[in-house]
Amino acid sequence: MIASGSKPRPLPIPGAEHMITSDELLSDRALPVSATFIGGGVISFELGHLYARAGIKVMILEALPQLLPAVVATYEGDIVGRNIVEGSKHGPNYEGMATAVYTVPALAAVGLTEAAPTQKELAVDVPVNDMLGRFSAKTDAETVAWSKIIVDRPTDRIVGAHFVDRQGQELINVFGLTIKFGITAHQLKDHVYAYPTFSADINHMFAHTA
Ligand SMILES: Cc1cc2nc3c(=O)[nH]c(=O)nc-3n(C[C@H](O)[C@H](O)[C@H](O)COP(=O)(O)OP(=O)(O)OC[C@H]3O[C@@H](n4cnc5c(N)ncnc54)[C@H](O)[C@@H]3O)c2cc1C
Repeated sequence: MIASGSKPRPLPIPGAEHMITSDELLSDRALPVSATFIGGGVISFELGHLYARAGIKVMILEALPQLLPAVVATYEGDIVGRNIVEGSKHGPNYEGMATAVYTVPALAAVGLTEAAPTQKELAVDVPVNDMLGRFSAKTDAETVAWSKIIVDRPTDRIVGAHFVDRQGQELINVFGLTIKFGITAHQLKDHVYAYPTFSADINHMFAHTA
C-alpha cells in the first residue's frame, strides 16, 4: 500500500516567498504581528484561532462560502488494509461522518448544511436552539452555544446537524449515528437519556416538535 500523504501546493502568487505551511508554523515559535491564512479549511480555522487568541491580527481567505471538512484518512487506510489482507473489495461509506473544529467556541458538523437540502429539493425543518440555558453550556460556563438540526419533513429523518458549542464535539457523533442508521427526530426526542448528561440536551433540541 502506498500512502505517502500530501504536501501543500505552492501558490503561484506575488509574495509567495513569504508564505509558510502549517508544518512550519507549528515548528516555529516566533509569533508574527499579523497573519493571512489561505484556504478556509479546518487547519486554517484552528491555527488562525490559536494566533488570534495570542493577540495576532488574523485574516482567513476562502473562495467557497463555507467551511470545508477533512477527517477520513484512518478510516480509508483501515479499509484498504482489510481489502489487501482479506482480498475483499469494500468501499468507504462517508454517511454520518462528522467534523469537529477545535476553536473557542468549538464547531461541529455532520451531514447536510441548511443550504444543501434546497439544492436537493428536500423539504426540511431546521430547528435552531440557543443552548445557553442548557446543562452542557452552563456546566462549561459557555457564552455562545447553539445547535441547528436539519430534519427531512416527509420522513422525519435527521439529514444534518451543526453545533457551536464545546459539547457539540461529542454530541455530533450521536447525530452521525442518527444520520447513518436513519433514526428520526421523534425517536431522538422520545429517547430517555441519562440525566444529567450532555446528551440529555438532545431532548430540548426537539422541544418544539409535537
Ligand atoms: C495541522 C494539521 C492538523 C490536523 N488535524 C487533524 C485532526 O484534528 N483530525 C483529523 O482527523 N485530521 C487532522 N489532520 C489531517 C490528517 O493529519 C491527515 O488527513 C492524515 O494525516 C492523512 O493521513 P495519510 O496517512 O494519508 O498521510 P500522512 O499522515 O501525511 O502520512 C504519510 C506518511 O508517509 C511518509 N512518506 C512520504 N513519502 C514517503 C516515501 N517516499 N517513503 C516512505 N514514507 C514516505 C510521510 O513521511 C508520512 O509519515 C490535520 C492535518 C494537519 C496538517
